Amino acid sequence: MKATEATNRNFARAARLVGIDAATERQLTTPFREIKVELTLVRDDGSIATFTGFRVQHDNARGPMKGGIRYHPEVEPDEVNALASLMTWKTAVVNLPYGGGKGGISCDPRQLSAAEQQRLTRQFTQKIHDCIGPQVDIPAPDMGTNAQTMAWIVDEYSKFHGWSPGVVTGKPVELGGSLGRDAATGRGLLYAAECAFADAGRKISDFTYAIQGFGNVGSWAARLFHEAGGKIVAVSDVDGAVRNPDGLDIPALYAWSQQHRTVKGFPGGEAMPVDALLGTRCDVLIPAALGGVITKTTAPEIQASWILEGANHPSDPDADEILARRGIHVLPDIYANAGGVTVSYFEWVQNIQQFYWDEARVNDELRRVMQQSWTALRDTARKHACDLRAAAFALALSRVMSATRLRGV
Ligand code: NAD
Repeated sequence: MKATEATNRNFARAARLVGIDAATERQLTTPFREIKVELTLVRDDGSIATFTGFRVQHDNARGPMKGGIRYHPEVEPDEVNALASLMTWKTAVVNLPYGGGKGGISCDPRQLSAAEQQRLTRQFTQKIHDCIGPQVDIPAPDMGTNAQTMAWIVDEYSKFHGWSPGVVTGKPVELGGSLGRDAATGRGLLYAAECAFADAGRKISDFTYAIQGFGNVGSWAARLFHEAGGKIVAVSDVDGAVRNPDGLDIPALYAWSQQHRTVKGFPGGEAMPVDALLGTRCDVLIPAALGGVITKTTAPEIQASWILEGANHPSDPDADEILARRGIHVLPDIYANAGGVTVSYFEWVQNIQQFYWDEARVNDELRRVMQQSWTALRDTARKHACDLRAAAFALALSRVMSATRLRGV
């Protein structure tokens, strides 16, 4: 199922719950602006390569648009559109004063040297600099990009507009990044899980976990759930997967992955096929890699009783129906992985004020946001007698709709 179709089906379900008219529905599903640019890169060997870059700005009713920039071979307009709209709903679920956007370059960063990545990033920034900005649209890292990518964007953007650390978030701390941002999405997942489990009378240490993806989100989730007493029994990345029913030694696995750039070959567990991760025997499944992995084909294989969506749109609506029938609880992406954008918001606030917080304050404020959002989400689910995904969309939709109406036509 196409990412936009999946997102629009979730939106339509919530629209019926909230009761919005067709004109408002069309307004809220149509992107504010779609940008597509050609990027020509001189490779290190002197040859020329051409790439396409995208930025979709979905909605700005509640504030500047906000969302990641992804470097991945599968970046394409449909998915960028869907991810941009998910950012509008995500920032609304956690009640940040932002709209949603998303962007990316269709490329394989692992095939590019650091110098090539820098040239490509600078060129992308040159081509979109007049459409982004601290009060307009604020990119952040996503798959295949990181704090270094954001540093290059700040530097290039600042050549046109003067020193502007607030143009992106997820920057290195030396350039105005926030303490705690690197861990924020994984930490937000932990706080979200604590809230949901507590309502079910359970805690993190009661469960076993399998994690798909061992990049920023997956590796931080692994480390933080492990520290909180959770037993991580399987982990995968694009190159390999490893399992240990007695629990993986996560600090050792992290050290291995830093040294070998993959979890493949880790001696503290047994190798398994990458595509077997979703069906691993565990209590809690954390998809933290690509979107669209939990489908009507893979949903019946899942053995977990909880799914915490670290990735964006890992499950499509057909899968949701199967998971609901099977009684599997899903903490939806637009709530569960909102820790990243929440600490990005804190970073932006610190950039504007030029007043920097210590990490304990960042983590405390993040916990407060995830707890307050959980209460609003759970109350919405009770009010509409619906699952958490429908409730998250309904909560977001009602907030965006009311801002849109207040601003007038
Ligand atoms: P990343 O590039 O740091 O890591 C991605 C990981 O997924 C890598 O370990 C990679 O090897 C793995 N992977 C890729 N294809 C795979 C496959 N087929 N099977 C198993 N593993 C595979 O990216 P990230 O920042 O950790 O983002 C992961 C997901 O979380 C994305 O969907 C992203 O949109 C979402 N997300 C990220 C943030 C953030 O703050 N970084 C915030 C919210 C949501």
